Amino acid sequence: MTEKLAILGGPQAVTSTIPSYISIGQEEIGAANRVLKNGVLSAFHGSWSDKFYGGPEVQRLEEAWSKYFDVRFSVSMNSATSGLISAVGAIGIGPGDEVIVSPFTMSASASCVRVWGGTPVFADVDENLFTLDPKQIKKQITSRTKAIIIVQLAGQAADMDEILSLAKEHKLFVIEDAAQSPGARYGSKWVGAISDIGIFSLNCHKTIQCGEGGVCVTSNEDLAKKMQLIRNHGEAVVKDMDFRNQPEKIIGFNFRLGEIEAAIATEQLKKLDGLNKSRQNIAKKLNQRLSGLEGLIIPKVGENRSHVYYTYMMKLKAIEPGITRHTIVKALEAEGVECHEGYSSPLYLQQLYQDTWEGKGKQNYSNGACPVTEKLYEKELFFHTYLYADLEPMLDEICHAFEKVWANLPALSKLSFKKQDR
Ligand SMILES: *Cc1c(COP(=O)(O)O)cnc(C)c1O
Repeated sequence: MTEKLAILGGPQAVTSTIPSYISIGQEEIGAANRVLKNGVLSAFHGSWSDKFYGGPEVQRLEEAWSKYFDVRFSVSMNSATSGLISAVGAIGIGPGDEVIVSPFTMSASASCVRVWGGTPVFADVDENLFTLDPKQIKKQITSRTKAIIIVQLAGQAADMDEILSLAKEHKLFVIEDAAQSPGARYGSKWVGAISDIGIFSLNCHKTIQCGEGGVCVTSNEDLAKKMQLIRNHGEAVVKDMDFRNQPEKIIGFNFRLGEIEAAIATEQLKKLDGLNKSRQNIAKKLNQRLSGLEGLIIPKVGENRSHVYYTYMMKLKAIEPGITRHTIVKALEAEGVECHEGYSSPLYLQQLYQDTWEGKGKQNYSNGACPVTEKLYEKELFFHTYLYADLEPMLDEICHAFEKVWANLPALSKLSFKKQDR
């Protein structure tokens, strides 16, 4: 006798509501209060003065960040999106320059190139890691290619050895979007600190957060200075700044992080190792329980690196005839397990890339451009975000929901969803 599925009117496998992720505690409350009492909520000034680098909390965060990630410079930002824009500006991308990007990521990892008038060139991802595939990157390199933006997706690094050697051979900058992978390792290095510039996010969805925020890391002084200028009205600062490699044409923004956010972020950084450890423990349990389910492919971890499981990305291969990913996800949701189908749609299909602009040239921004990404998005990939310590007591029930659905595949194959459902 199998248990009746919740989608067919049976009891739910998960008996309580899954709590939302909260990493904020007394330490962060104390830090925010300290800043409020002191009354200085930002100490930046957009001129070449001692206020160019921001207030004490911003500088304390940057110092702690550099120490943790073992880099020479950390430049805080008000978001990772601002960080990506600053990084692309710092390496000097402009009209006519091509930057190889991933189509399977949050939109800013590619649109940051357009901000400066550069041309994003999409390469396909690896079907196991979901990060840019070095073989596909190689195919996209032309005489105009200036850089590669690698998205270290879901909690682990791409095949960086191959990517860095390609970059060296073709003299390309490498930027890592490490928004989803703070604290992951690649060989002896921290993810984000492997290449020319790494970018982290501190938005409220990420492993550690301060509401909105980001940090760029680099060990190249020239790039650090340019990012500081782009962060803070650089056009008004360069003339007075003693900067030998002077970028006369620099345009600055206001990408400055506030003191309260910086103080919170400094406390959050102290918790990163513990939060990642509990994510890894939960992933280990999920791996053990879910790896036996036919057609379900648990996250693969690349060689010589660690995974910090920002999300738990699974793939579904053909199981029973008539059963699609959508059917499985609907059945799991009915059991009380929240799932997301497909992650982001291939970025090149966004309206932004369908418009014509001077730099577009012969880029392929149409359906079929990156078949692996499209297959993952349309058919195979689904994920959940249950990797935080509060969920430990509910893990048994969550795993049981999967087992229950899998034990009932024949009954599920009879369920049909209308086209408009998916
Ligand atoms: C969250 C995220 C970003 C953007 O972060 P913000 O701080 O919200 O700007 C960029 N890239 C990836 C891969 C992300 O997951």
